Amino acid sequence: MSLGHVWLVGAGPGDPGLITVNGLAALRRADVVVYDRLASRELLDEAPAGAVRIDAGKSADNHTLTQEEINALLVEHGQAGRRVVRLKGGDPYVFGRGGEEALALAGAGVPCTVIPGVTAAIGGLAMGGVPVTHRAVATSFAVVTGHEDPTKPHEGVDWARLAGATDTIVVLMGAARFDGIARALIEGGRAATTPTAIVQEASTPRQRAVTGTLATIAEVARAAQIAAPALFVVGDVAAFQHSLAPAALAPLAGKRVLVTRTRAQASTLAEALRLEGAYPLLLPAIELDRRVDAVAATNVANALAGGAYAWTVFTSVNAVEVFLDALFEAGGDARSLRRTRIAAIGAATERVLRARGLRADLVSSEAVGEALGTALAPHVAGARVLLPRAEGARDVLPSTLRAAGADVEELTLYLAAPPANPPAEVLAAVRAGQVDVAMFTSSSTVTNLAAMIGGDLSALGNAVIACIGPIVAETARERGLRVDVVAEPHTIDGLVEATRAFMHARHPARTEVR
Ligand code: SAH
Repeated sequence: MSLGHVWLVGAGPGDPGLITVNGLAALRRADVVVYDRLASRELLDEAPAGAVRIDAGKSADNHTLTQEEINALLVEHGQAGRRVVRLKGGDPYVFGRGGEEALALAGAGVPCTVIPGVTAAIGGLAMGGVPVTHRAVATSFAVVTGHEDPTKPHEGVDWARLAGATDTIVVLMGAARFDGIARALIEGGRAATTPTAIVQEASTPRQRAVTGTLATIAEVARAAQIAAPALFVVGDVAAFQHSLAPAALAPLAGKRVLVTRTRAQASTLAEALRLEGAYPLLLPAIELDRRVDAVAATNVANALAGGAYAWTVFTSVNAVEVFLDALFEAGGDARSLRRTRIAAIGAATERVLRARGLRADLVSSEAVGEALGTALAPHVAGARVLLPRAEGARDVLPSTLRAAGADVEELTLYLAAPPANPPAEVLAAVRAGQVDVAMFTSSSTVTNLAAMIGGDLSALGNAVIACIGPIVAETARERGLRVDVVAEPHTIDGLVEATRAFMHARHPARTEVR
């Protein structure tokens, strides 16, 4: 039997992008993932599809596992020779009981590695707009647990001693006791006027922050219905919250951005958005339902190899991928394309062709059917043209080519259908009007989204609507949306860039410098 290993991995405060490189590598090789309530759910998708995922907050009969049960679970899987990732919110050793787990594993002789994480106490606070130190204002900080009841004797935290001991005090697990904690600190000698802030669900799309003083904060929190998980921060740094909140610093920061591409294609867009500080809400509105007819594919493969087509035309990244897979299954491969010229719609399609070892002989400068038709028309008179593409795609390209004298042969590859099981919470957020920006990268994402949320898109009435190009924008307008952004160039980077510029023009990010 192989020797097992357990990695205690810090998942970061909430934003899945805040896990470490090592943490992600461990996750991607895990056989078993035992995760906490506070660890980002999106990270679970990074584990291999076949990995066993265990919610440490729930046992089989729906009870919270005790720490002893969790220790035993880790030891058991480790001893069974598995690669186990224990995924914990923030950093495993900051109130995460990671130390206890590591000791239990060491005691049982199971190899273990700790991979630190960004603790909510510092990183989460930063995402909420509060720097834990700041020159001249705070040169020290303490992180304490608020879990002990400050009104009871024999509690663990000495609030009176803490009150004046450091400039910044960060309290974790204090959401049920803001009142008592603030009072204990004032009684301990901290000025009632000390700036104080609370950040709830830091670095997630649900992040909220409130500010006040030690004297007022509990009431402010009550009025705003602040709930756990929350960070309570006391000290002059809390006064920066308004100026340093991410949304005050960058145009897309803190914005909830609906991404409707397929799961496979969403990641580059989501990554670009996260780098802007935005929260991508992933709601794939298309799923490629493959519709390749085996007989038709074999005929095409043979005709291609026989040099029947002067041109093969690709109108999307998906078309390239699905066609080449179908070609392979029909007994052909890249060599089958040696006697045809290849045309591609725009740079992204050209790139994926290149990645599969194929050179495009013609690339339209704009990624729209009109542009490709115009570019190809002079070359196709009397020629046979192969057009492998989605069912129900627009007619403009084949009709332009036919008008130019081409004999166009279509091969149906897939249907861009709405997905069978869209994520319920994202769907609910869309319906509740919680989307700040909606991004559309194809017309079918617009129509399918409408179908998914029950016919019309009025729930997006207050959202900024950003489309990758004019055709998609037209579809969005037909569906009653007011389109704010049409990307130029019609690429993912172009879309993000145009949206940033739009948001910046609307609310320039500017903060007073103190
Ligand atoms: N190991 C974790 C802390 C675990 S204790 C870390 O290093 O971050 C759990 C407490 O952390 C919560 O009660 C809350 O006070 C805080 N916390 C964790 N994630 C948070 C988040 N995203 N927003 C606000 N508080 C958070």
